[in-house]
Amino acid sequence: MSEDLKSKEIQPTEGQEKSLNFIEEIIETDLASGKYKTIITRFPPEPNGYLHIGHASSICLNFGLTLKYGGYTNLRFDDTNPITEETEYVESIKEDVRWLGFEWKHELYASDYFDTLYEYAIRLINKGLAYIDDSASEEIAEQKGTPTSVGHRNQFAERSVEENLRLFEAMKDGKYKDGEKVLRAKIDMNSPNMLMRDPIIYRIKHAHHHRTGDKWCIYPMYDFAHGQSDSIENITHSICTMEFVPHREVYDWLIHNLEIFPSHQYEFARRNLSHTVMSKRRLLQLVNEGHVTGWDDPRMPTISGLRRRGYTPESIRDFANRIGIAKRENTVDVGLLEFCAREHLNKAALRRMVVFDPLKVVITNYAGEGETLRAENNPENPNGGEREISFSNELYIEHEDFMEEPPKKYFRLAPGQMVRLKYAYIIKCDEVVKDNAGNIVQLNCSHFPESRSGADTSGIKVKGTLHWVNAKDCVKVQVNEYDRLFGVEDPSGSEGDFRNYINPDSLQVDENALAEPALKDAVINDRFQFLRKGYFTLEKDSAADKLIFNKTVGLKDSWAKESKK
Ligand code: ATP
Ligand code: MG
Repeated sequence: MSEDLKSKEIQPTEGQEKSLNFIEEIIETDLASGKYKTIITRFPPEPNGYLHIGHASSICLNFGLTLKYGGYTNLRFDDTNPITEETEYVESIKEDVRWLGFEWKHELYASDYFDTLYEYAIRLINKGLAYIDDSASEEIAEQKGTPTSVGHRNQFAERSVEENLRLFEAMKDGKYKDGEKVLRAKIDMNSPNMLMRDPIIYRIKHAHHHRTGDKWCIYPMYDFAHGQSDSIENITHSICTMEFVPHREVYDWLIHNLEIFPSHQYEFARRNLSHTVMSKRRLLQLVNEGHVTGWDDPRMPTISGLRRRGYTPESIRDFANRIGIAKRENTVDVGLLEFCAREHLNKAALRRMVVFDPLKVVITNYAGEGETLRAENNPENPNGGEREISFSNELYIEHEDFMEEPPKKYFRLAPGQMVRLKYAYIIKCDEVVKDNAGNIVQLNCSHFPESRSGADTSGIKVKGTLHWVNAKDCVKVQVNEYDRLFGVEDPSGSEGDFRNYINPDSLQVDENALAEPALKDAVINDRFQFLRKGYFTLEKDSAADKLIFNKTVGLKDSWAKESKK
């Protein structure tokens, strides 16, 4: 783990004593004062992409609060922009939230509130607090002024309530083209907050909406939809990211003037992850341009990508919990996410043996057909059970576990040297067999019958233990190993286009690995530790006649070692 991961902002993990975060403090105060009896939060994704690890922070926070304090959390699709939203995204978002382990109370869509929002707009017009503006968007921008100079209203702000009502209805009835007119809230053209300078709250957009179809050709802007949706749902604590701080004033103004349920907005800092990008626009670019195979490519920082890669919901929740929430934006090293995966997988993964680069071993003094050995599934889990593995006189070990001329302190196999085969016997290398080109093709070894694991009376001590497979029943598998998708810590913040930093070697495919036969029974979501290799899961495109495994993460942080070199 790099130094900044150990910084004070990293909080202890689930179950451990932990101080309250600032939103928990606010909630405890609100409950104690009787301001609210029930806490209601919402997670409000815009269905214009797949969820990523940053969203996981927001999900764990919103759902975590109501799990802790009672009440409930809604899943609300913020689908007020008709152009970008698709049903595919809605489905993936639901799947991802559920997979993370959370259940929402109501599944809602901001578009369900279009009728109510339209009524709210009329309410504002009637109060003289909204008007139809015919100006072009450049004119509106120009009239707004700048943060250091005041803005000024145009003649449209003088329209009567009756005229505004009539024009707004005509807008709704499709009498105008896109951009011809907008509805603006009449707030304060001198406000130091630019968003308060008569913000646009409705615009014309002749576009088909994924849920409301062609019913509407006017759509509310974010500021006229979000707070009102919160209010309609009686959301008590509406949590969003820091870029919405300036929107809070508009949020409060609208709720106050519409005289609706007083939801409150609270902001926390976005969480960024190193060595990747998180904006949906960039993720979509990676997908569309074929840099990855899809939103759920195992190298993507999306929830679906992490799932396919073998991450567990527990490890992602643990990650969100450890980084906690803060007011200051920061980038969390992906090493912490990998650390959380290892922490959980060490307890959850079944141990299996897979040889990636096979070297044949013949046990010359082993008589008979072979035998069945017992092997524990997980030494970290007393209830993990056992499996059977078979042993015979023909095995494979990893090529890199043999050296013809080993250096000192080499505890693996070498001529005349002994090692233990995991769950089985101690063997000694007697002879190296080479082909005509001088390549090592086979090792002839002898075993010590009295050294069997669990019943070892040989008295022989060896320092090395190797994984292996039985040549007589092993199965060929494909192994996909992933590296970071980007070679730099902050591809979006680095000079030039973020795509320049794509790591060309982020996927390494090995089609000739040999696995113990128990892996034939693997199903999606099974987690394995391939001994001495790392954590793996079954790839979704795997088939009975072509087993494929994805590497989730290595056993150790190889990058931490790299950086110390
Ligand atoms: P993008 O800017 O990539 O399109 P977004 O923030 O617009 O993402 P939304 O679907 O609007 O995505 O986000 C849903 C919720 O998740 C919001 O409340 C948002 O603030 C939160 N969220 C999004 N990204 C992060 C992040 N990196 N860290 C924490 N919360 C996030
Ligand atoms: Mg958004």
